[in-house]
Amino acid sequence: MGIRARIFLLIFLSLSISITISYIIAERDLTKTFEEQILDQLEKQASLLVEYIDEVDSLLTNNNADSIADRLGNASNSRVTLILNNGKVIGDSYIDEKELSQLDDHSTREEFIEAMKYGFGWSSRYSASVKQQQLYFAIRDNNEISPNIIRIAVPYTYLDQAIQSLDLSILLVAMVALLVATIASGLAANYTYTSIAELANAASNLAGGSLKKSSIKALPTDRVDEFGNVARSISQISEDLKSQINLLAKQRDQFGLVLDDLGEGIMVADKKGEITYCNEQFLLIISQENVIGLEIKDLGIKSIQSLYKKSKRSKSADIEFEIDTKDGATKWILGSMNQSKTTKEFILVIHDITQLRQLNSMRRDFISNVSHELRTPVSVIRANSETLLESALDDKKQAKVFAKAILHNSERLTEMVSDLLDLSRIEHGELKLHIEKLNLQECIDKSIDSLKNLGKKKNIDIKCNCPNKTQYVLADKKALERILTNLIDNAFKYSEENSVINIATKTKHKHDNVLISITDSGKGISDVDKPVIFDRFFRTAEARASEKKGSGLGLAIVKNLVNSLNGDVGVKNAPNNTGSQFWFTLPIAR
Ligand code: ADP
Repeated sequence: MGIRARIFLLIFLSLSISITISYIIAERDLTKTFEEQILDQLEKQASLLVEYIDEVDSLLTNNNADSIADRLGNASNSRVTLILNNGKVIGDSYIDEKELSQLDDHSTREEFIEAMKYGFGWSSRYSASVKQQQLYFAIRDNNEISPNIIRIAVPYTYLDQAIQSLDLSILLVAMVALLVATIASGLAANYTYTSIAELANAASNLAGGSLKKSSIKALPTDRVDEFGNVARSISQISEDLKSQINLLAKQRDQFGLVLDDLGEGIMVADKKGEITYCNEQFLLIISQENVIGLEIKDLGIKSIQSLYKKSKRSKSADIEFEIDTKDGATKWILGSMNQSKTTKEFILVIHDITQLRQLNSMRRDFISNVSHELRTPVSVIRANSETLLESALDDKKQAKVFAKAILHNSERLTEMVSDLLDLSRIEHGELKLHIEKLNLQECIDKSIDSLKNLGKKKNIDIKCNCPNKTQYVLADKKALERILTNLIDNAFKYSEENSVINIATKTKHKHDNVLISITDSGKGISDVDKPVIFDRFFRTAEARASEKKGSGLGLAIVKNLVNSLNGDVGVKNAPNNTGSQFWFTLPIAR
C-alpha cells in the first residue's frame, strides 16, 4: 500500500471513529435532555391539573371523575389518570368508565410509590391497559385533606419520534462531517504525499549521482516546516558530498596526470586478470589504442601473459622481452609485475629499453669499428715495413713506394685518432668553445678558400647564395669552420666532376636562427641511410667500396659540434633529387 493510501486511511479511520463516538455521545445526551424536557412539561401540566382539581375524593362522590379525566386528557393531549391514595383508579382519559373497575391496583406502580413518598415520581413502561410504551408522571395533590395522585402520561412513541427526527439530523450532520473528513483526509494525504514525493524525487536524483546545481536547487529548502528542515539537511549533505567528490576527482586527475607523464608504462589488472587501468605511456610502448576491459591474455603479448602467470604464483616477477611495432621495428621492453597485498590487483610497470639496448650495441659496434678502422692502416704500415726490411731497402725506387705507403697510412691513422679524440672531447664537453658574434659570410668564404684546390681537381664550381652579407651568428669560430670544411669537403668528395656546389643561407626570424645549406649534385643518400648518416663510423656501402678515403667520423663530429652551438643538423635530397643537401642552423647574433 502506497504512503498516500496509508495516510488517507489513517486520517479517514481516526476521523470516522471520532465522528461515530461523537454521534453516539450526542444521541445519548440529546435523548436524555429531551426526556428531561418532556418530564418537565409533564410535571408542569400535572401541577396545573393539581391546581385545577379541587378534591379527587369529591369527584368520586359526584361520580364525574372519569369524565373530568377525559376532559383534562383531551385538553392536555395526554393520558390523565386520577388515582386514590389506596391505588384505586377512579378516572382515566384513555379507558372507558365501565372498564375502570377491571383495572388492577395502581399502588405498586413505580411513579405512584415515588409520588406518595416524595410528592412526585415518574417511570416509563409498557402499559398493558392501553397497549403501548408510556412515560408516566405522577404528582401528589397536597391541597387535599388526604392527598391523592394525579398521573399524566404520554406515549413513549412521541419521545421516540422526536428522538428519531433528531437522530436523522445528527446522522445527516455526521454524514456531512464524514464527507468533509474524507475530502480533508484525501487533501491532507495528497499534500503530505506531494511534499514527501518532492523530497524523495530530489533525494533519489542526488542518490543517482546527479549532484548538479539544478538537482540541489530542486530541494524545497525555503519551506519553514519539517520538510524544509529535511530538504536543508539533504542540500547540505549534497554540497559536502559534491565538494568531497570534486576534491577526489581533482586528486585522481592529478594522480592520472602524474602517471601519464611518467616515462614508464603502468597497467593495473584485477584479481581475474581484467585490465582496469593503464597510462598513456603503456599504450604508447605496446603500440595499442585501448586495453581497458580486456583480459591480459587478450593483449596478444605472450611475455606479459607469462609474467602474469608467474606473479600469480610468486607475487612478483620480472621479464625482458621484445615486441614488433606496427612499423615493423622491434622494441625491447623490461617489465615487472607485482600483486598488491591488500587489493590483490596486479600492477605491471614496463620500460622501453630499446634505446639502452641500441646504445649497448652501438658501444659494441663502435669498439669493433674502431678496431676494424685502425687495423687496416696498421696492417698496411706493418706489411710495407716488413717488405722494406726484408728486401726493398736496397731498391731505392721500391723503397720510396713502400715508405710513401707507410707515410700515407700513418697520416690516415693520425687523422683517425685525432678525429676520435676530438669526438670524444666534444661528447664529454671537454672541448672549450668560445662563443662569439661571427660574420657568417666571412666564415663561409674562409672555408671555401681553404678547399678551393680540391674543387679544381674535379672542376667543381662553388656558388654562394647568401642574400645577407652582414648576417651575424653566435658560434665558436674554429668549430664553425670545421663544420663548414667537413660538409664542403664531403660535397667535393661525393660530387661528380664538372658539377656545382651551392651554399645558401636563410635567416629565419621566426625561429631566431640562420639556416645554412650545402647542396651537391652527387649520388645523394638513400632514405635507408639518412637516419644513421650522422652515426660514428657510418659510411655508405658505396663509399666503403670506393677508393675514397674516409673514416665515417666527419659527420658525427659535425653533428656534435652543431648541437654544442645550440643548432640543429640534417640531410635531405637536393631539389630535383640531383644530390644531397646537408643543412644546419645557428642562433642569430643581435
Ligand atoms: P667520411 O670520412 O667517410 O666521409 P663522413 O662522416 O664525413 O665520413 O661521412 C659519412 C658517410 O656519409 C660517407 O662515407 C658517405 O658515404 C656519406 N656522405 C657524406 N657526405 C656525403 C655527400 N655529400 N654525398 C653523398 N654521401 C655522403
